[in-house]
Amino acid sequence: MRQSMPRYPIEGVFRAHIPDIWTVLGSPQTTAAYMAFIMAVSATQGVRMDSLNLVAKNMVVSFHYTLKDKEGQVLDSSSGSEPLAYLHGYGQIVSGLEAALLGKAPGAQFTVVVEAKDGYGVREDQLVISVGKSEWTLPDTVGVGEIIELQSPEGQVIPARIVEMNDQSVVLDANHPLAGEDLHFDVELLSVRAATAEELAHGHAHGVGGHQH
Ligand SMILES: [Zn+2]
Repeated sequence: MRQSMPRYPIEGVFRAHIPDIWTVLGSPQTTAAYMAFIMAVSATQGVRMDSLNLVAKNMVVSFHYTLKDKEGQVLDSSSGSEPLAYLHGYGQIVSGLEAALLGKAPGAQFTVVVEAKDGYGVREDQLVISVGKSEWTLPDTVGVGEIIELQSPEGQVIPARIVEMNDQSVVLDANHPLAGEDLHFDVELLSVRAATAEELAHGHAHGVGGHQH
């Protein structure tokens, strides 16, 4: 599977595929340091030396994932549908997963456990809100377990789940449903490419699994 090392014009590879590699590497001074990094990555991931598109800032990354809770129950998965595509380096996926993807090459498969604080955050008690029944204007058909949208004074919409209802009040939980959960991701990295100028201007990935417009 592993091929002998092809002879690349190193500067060309760097410019073509890994625009922010110096940022990723912490500004190494020499090409030798870069090559050592590439070889270390390819050794640990078993990738071919000609797969030099590594996940870094301003790269468009496409991957399949399955998200499980700590009991192994599947919470979400891209399996059977389009992979997820995102622009790396802008917090568009949970930070722990974004960190785990950094430096990886197409074809990499790995499992990562993301702690709640690096996932959807820890649960916050102040996000459990009690609303007086007199202020409650939603129809009777809306009951416990349903998600409603709260609007902040700034116009931001925050989803909240109805957790309790009685004659006096309605209790809402505006924590993310996965707040407080450690997230177990199985990841298959499909492709990594440099973002286009348009994608960088828009701040997101275009095409399959990204924005379509
Ligand atoms: Zn766009």
